[in-house]
Amino acid sequence: MVIVMKIGANQDQVGAIKRKAERLGCDVQITQGKDCCILGLVGDTSTISISQLEAEECVDKVVRVQAPYKRANRLFHPNDSIIKVDGRTIGGKELAIIAGPCAVESEEQLIHIAKDVKKAGANFLRGGAYKPRTSPYSFQGMEEEGLKILLEAKKITGLPIVTEVMSVELVEKISSYADVLQIGARNMQNFDLLKEVGRSNKTILLKRGMSATIEEFLMSAEYIMSEGNQNVVLCERGIRTFETFTRNTLDLSAIPVLKKLSHLPVIVDPSHATGKWWLVEPLAKAAIAVGADGLEVEVHYDPVNALSDGPQSLKPEKFEAMMNSIKVIAETQNRTI
Ligand code: PEP
Ligand code: MN
Repeated sequence: MVIVMKIGANQDQVGAIKRKAERLGCDVQITQGKDCCILGLVGDTSTISISQLEAEECVDKVVRVQAPYKRANRLFHPNDSIIKVDGRTIGGKELAIIAGPCAVESEEQLIHIAKDVKKAGANFLRGGAYKPRTSPYSFQGMEEEGLKILLEAKKITGLPIVTEVMSVELVEKISSYADVLQIGARNMQNFDLLKEVGRSNKTILLKRGMSATIEEFLMSAEYIMSEGNQNVVLCERGIRTFETFTRNTLDLSAIPVLKKLSHLPVIVDPSHATGKWWLVEPLAKAAIAVGADGLEVEVHYDPVNALSDGPQSLKPEKFEAMMNSIKVIAETQNRTI
């Protein structure tokens, strides 16, 4: 961090700012120019507030030279994080393929789809029991009944369960059924929820907020990690742009950017990114080609009658075809599926 003093700041003022930075745990290097003085701070500046320093009358501006996230930062953790979940890995050589319906609708529906996605090569089962719907009149999910069905599907297929948690109060209950807790795009900056899942021992699948910058996304991961839970998987799921043809715009560049800035695994959800089933396979291929560690894909055998997100759901045979086509791309990235 660099503090630029105002022109004409006197030695007493420079000394006071230096002592303030030292009290915050930094080593301070002073560079005095003809008119201007700058202070270089070395150490953990992640807890230092820029606006508080800039409120000092003698300070012109404060510039961060390093990212404000620490635990999520690749700088302090050069190797890729490989997260173990119930005998599977996310972030290792094998791609993590999370597939299943948007929402659990019935035992028959989920078990049918779970068997199909497993047969096609998925290694995790997704299904929402508590759904974040834009309209309060839309299907809100089967709640605890849905969690019981997810567990039943796990018993039958052996696939670990990924399901969304929308509120602090539900973290404990959902943790007693699920292997991976999903934080949805709409909750990416629900800081109380991030802190609560940060205290849990489950792997957290953190989806990017629809208008979140990459730095905001990584700061949300930092919230979880700062509470002790280092098992965070990032998921790019499309962002809002001026384009309305697709539901969102898949930010493909976010994948290599996130992999460069962070050691955390990065997966892609081409279903919510596009809103259209026929765009899922091409973007899934693109995601693997640019280095994604896996995919989250919605699958339903009867999309027309699905209670949520039917238009973006792949039928099981289309999902199987997608799996076959991404196998080829995975090989080019030295990944297996
Ligand atoms: C979902 O995965 O079902 C979902 C609601 O995704 P997102 O939070 O990315 O919209
Ligand atoms: Mn959905």
